[in-house]
Amino acid sequence: MFDAEYAASLAKRLAAAPRFAGTSGERKARDLLLNELSQAGLEAIAEPFRVRTFKVNACRLESIDPPFQVPCSPLGFSGETGPEGVTGDVIYIESVDKALTPSREGWIGLASRRPGKDEWRRIVGKASGLIIAEDNRYRLPSHVAVPYEWREKYGSLPSMYVSYGDAIRLLSSKKARIVLEQKYLRPLSYNVVAEKRGTKYPDEIILVTAHYDSVYGVRGAVDNAGGTAFAVALARAFAQRDSKRTLRVALFSGEELGLRGSQAYVKRHREELDKIKLVLNLDVHGDAIGRNGAVVTGPKELKDYAESRAKILGYTISFREDVMSSDGTSFAREGVPVLNLYRAGGTNIDMHTVRDRGDHISPLAYRILGAYAETLLDELLNAETIPFPHSIPEELSKKVKEYFSRWEV
Ligand SMILES: [Zn+2]
Repeated sequence: MFDAEYAASLAKRLAAAPRFAGTSGERKARDLLLNELSQAGLEAIAEPFRVRTFKVNACRLESIDPPFQVPCSPLGFSGETGPEGVTGDVIYIESVDKALTPSREGWIGLASRRPGKDEWRRIVGKASGLIIAEDNRYRLPSHVAVPYEWREKYGSLPSMYVSYGDAIRLLSSKKARIVLEQKYLRPLSYNVVAEKRGTKYPDEIILVTAHYDSVYGVRGAVDNAGGTAFAVALARAFAQRDSKRTLRVALFSGEELGLRGSQAYVKRHREELDKIKLVLNLDVHGDAIGRNGAVVTGPKELKDYAESRAKILGYTISFREDVMSSDGTSFAREGVPVLNLYRAGGTNIDMHTVRDRGDHISPLAYRILGAYAETLLDELLNAETIPFPHSIPEELSKKVKEYFSRWEV
């Protein structure tokens, strides 16, 4: 039986410290996961892959005219200013709107959101730096990164996040100085993989996935210690019973740096992808009070099946066909159907900030989704025929392509 108490307690243990890819925090989490999976009776291994990461040595922001200091958090891989920093006029450019962007060089942009790939290219070499405002007044500054390829291919744009309130203060600043120092590293990172082989159709795999890494310096409780613990609790529930198909669990690292772990997995297991009948991806889980949702990147028959199961069981799960910015999409790109489960709760606003530290993780979060996922897996692992085709509809395929083209170079 799925154990919601266990899931919540493992989520809390994982969320005790940040788990940024390639760091000792990632290693500790990996050891814990390998141990939990083998304790459950599964064979668990760690699969290495090379990842690009960064380490921040300094991030400071001060208005010079008038003088005041502003707390900030670095945008990983955006660039460096050197220890002396860069100084420039502060120019509000909204969403990097062409109409508000000066053609001269040497200014510091103040933007209302993180630039996309094309906007990045447009202001690299013109702006000396970029300040990004949080879009919600209750959010702390984000700890995220742009893909490392942007700086390598298009150039450096040292960038940092500030709170919405501080961004409002900065509107009165004529001149500011930013200091951003970061080092770029290429450590090994590891996916954790475990499986329980099927008895009748062992070559057919149902793959449960979750990312266990966090963003830089953040404990990542809801995103995604909660989903990782969910996946391990499911593996534990099936470890001691035989199923016709193979159940495999893959816990990825490097998701927060651009789905790096799942992309490494897809590359390494390319010849096996046809055997994966479904990817059940678990990202953003654990909040005590919340609402359950599902994003289907797969055939209509999958959505119909999964949605009718929720109805039969009396669970309210809101379904939509779409692309989620999470590891499942690395598989959808290869034509493997994906069902993403998530939980929207009161702490989602803290995602990617140091406040995502798990104060409200509870077994309640898993009561519905745990039983639901267990029912679905039990049926699909033992069905004589999988009730949906191994394909992605044209329209969703297009959306998957668009998703990757927004940030891949
Ligand atoms: Zn996540």
